[in-house]
Amino acid sequence: MSDCRFCGAALELSFVDLGSSPLCQRHVPRSQALAPEAFFPLHAFVCTSCYLVQLEALVPPEAIFGDGEYGYFASFSDSWLAHAREYVDRASQRWGLDAHSFVAEIASNDGYLLQNFVRRGVPVLGIEPASNCAAAARAKGVETRVCFFGAETARELVREGKRPDLLIANNVLAHVPELNDFVAGLKLFLRETGVVTLEFPHLLRLIADNQFDTIYHEHYSYFSFSTVRRIFAAQGLRLFDVEELATHGGSLRIYGCHTGATHLDTPRVAELLARESALGVETPGYYAAFAEEVREAKRALLEFLIGVKRAGKRVAGYGAPGKGNTLLNYCGIRGDFIDYTVDRSPHKQNNLLPGSRIPIYAPEKIFETKPDYILILPWNLRQEIMQQLARVRAWGGKFVVPIPRVQVFE
Ligand SMILES: [Zn+2]
Repeated sequence: MSDCRFCGAALELSFVDLGSSPLCQRHVPRSQALAPEAFFPLHAFVCTSCYLVQLEALVPPEAIFGDGEYGYFASFSDSWLAHAREYVDRASQRWGLDAHSFVAEIASNDGYLLQNFVRRGVPVLGIEPASNCAAAARAKGVETRVCFFGAETARELVREGKRPDLLIANNVLAHVPELNDFVAGLKLFLRETGVVTLEFPHLLRLIADNQFDTIYHEHYSYFSFSTVRRIFAAQGLRLFDVEELATHGGSLRIYGCHTGATHLDTPRVAELLARESALGVETPGYYAAFAEEVREAKRALLEFLIGVKRAGKRVAGYGAPGKGNTLLNYCGIRGDFIDYTVDRSPHKQNNLLPGSRIPIYAPEKIFETKPDYILILPWNLRQEIMQQLARVRAWGGKFVVPIPRVQVFE
């Protein structure tokens, strides 16, 4: 095991060991159904010096995002698009952004967020390593550069005279192997008076809600507010505001500025730090019970599936998110329990899930085959999915959510 990617201390405390699984966004084409597949250990540790929860970066980001086959397009989730629109409305108002401002987004994916600034006439630049996502963004009129972000990219952009008033990086911090270099890049790139906002899943919610399936190879790091504040401070950035969001099962949106900038700290900063401290997030004891909770969630899900299969019921999945693959591979659930899954993204349809090799179809398949149970893999979108599939109740179809413990919704 390498040392802590933030502070360099030796990593000795195991957080949870989820066995081995393949890369979760690598869907297998049907033509390769009989080909071998690489599996990598999935074992998270917690640093007892800075309390950053982390995985060894066994798989470089180039292998995940780099070759134009990255499978995640943000625009296929209605609730995520609405979330991006609301953010742009609020940010435009709060920071007075207009045609004279400049907004940059790191990991801008298919332009799902920046397109809202383009509509408002605000100049934008997307920075996105997956060339297929970047092409989709350009088709929406979102100027996008294909590269990874770090101190070197930041220096290049600054040399070109580009420094953002608002710099956005949503759901990317966890994917960064060189964490200090990335945050140093934010510091270099951000205009002196500018604001950087980042969203990422909150470690407190991962632990409280037993969201072990959000641990996968592409997510190298898992953050409490206390730890992320320390990581930013080390590079000369001060977090002056924080919001708790419902997205991805419970995320933080942090607001940073240069340490000496005039933005005043909101009371929310001290409040969340106090709450985390009271829970003991900077003590080993806080992390001790998680691994057994995870094993128990696996036993409960398998017990449920064995019961319904013995009763002759049919089970389908819904969705093909990264987290679904951690769940299915850790629990050993394959075609023996789940006939198929469905996903709205045509990029995923007609492939097989990595590892479990469960086939992925378009959502119509559910209405053709009328399964008894639908296991919702992106449980964070449960409400949206149950609404979209309301018609399954016509044949008595029920929904199943695996996290924090298996639960059936009529
Ligand atoms: Zn550390």
